[in-house]
Amino acid sequence: MSKSPVRAQAKGADGVSEGRNSAVGEQGISRPTKATKRPSGEPVKQGKPAKSAKSGEPAKAAAAAKPGKPESHLAMVRRARRINRELAEIYPYAHPELDFRNPFELLVATVLSAQTTDLRVNQTTPALFAAYPTPEDMAAAVPEELEELIRPTGFFRAKAKSLIGLSASIRDNFGGEVPGRLADLVTLPGVGRKTANVVLGNAFGVPGITVDTHFGRLVRRWKWTDQEDPEKVEAEIAAIFPKSEWTMLSHRVVFHGRRICHARKPACGACPIAPLCPSYGEGETDPEKARKLLKYEMGGQPGQRLSPPPDYPGRPAPPLGAG
Ligand code: SF4
Repeated sequence: MSKSPVRAQAKGADGVSEGRNSAVGEQGISRPTKATKRPSGEPVKQGKPAKSAKSGEPAKAAAAAKPGKPESHLAMVRRARRINRELAEIYPYAHPELDFRNPFELLVATVLSAQTTDLRVNQTTPALFAAYPTPEDMAAAVPEELEELIRPTGFFRAKAKSLIGLSASIRDNFGGEVPGRLADLVTLPGVGRKTANVVLGNAFGVPGITVDTHFGRLVRRWKWTDQEDPEKVEAEIAAIFPKSEWTMLSHRVVFHGRRICHARKPACGACPIAPLCPSYGEGETDPEKARKLLKYEMGGQPGQRLSPPPDYPGRPAPPLGAG
């Protein structure tokens, strides 16, 4: 198993901007965590690492989210950075949840991940990459044969067209190598900013913020932004964090969204960052019930990768058709 390349990140400049207020009470939000416990039961202190969030105690500092005077932009930035630090301690092993061995495989897997789970993509790509290991091979694929291989990921005709098109473009315009620049990546068929940032951040070590459905939902719940448009979300979040944090921040937020802060039933009662969250109470607050909502390693289930990084604490996911 290859080492995950996600750890490698470029350093960048910090960019905190001022001036925008949210409706969150500053006092309540910015001093919340004295007596909180993590889901593991371990007390949370400022700057103290969390070991895991596998099971545990209710987050008790929801009262911290009392309405007060509007939170200043600076206070929101501080709170956002603190959430990021907490997430780094809760998910020290956060990583891209697509299996890949090189930039081309990550690009293909990311295109396939639209409208399906990373697990389903990971179960599909081993046979796909065995049949078409390079852009040249995939560009020359018989469409119907490629479609059949990627059928489990849904929208397989459109995705096959994108894969053949992007492979041909890589072959014809980039010497057979996936380009490492955003401006070039977005010229490939089926590749937008989200896909380009995934590839840049995880295959090239270029910092990027990936605004997928989880990321957008969580940053709005945390009042880091009220934008809906992914490009505007990306720009506003980029102004809150230093570049060096962008890629890992993206993974941590997505990990939290998949495991705890779900779209329909966020497990607020088992959420270790509840004291910092202005949306505490949007989901289940009863600790027992909330724990039952936890997914993947938090809920005793394997993660999405068949070949996870060595430090991943859960079990690898099963291949397609293996129960
Ligand atoms: S909405 Fe609930 S689960 Fe999501 S981050 Fe806030 S407290 Fe945690």
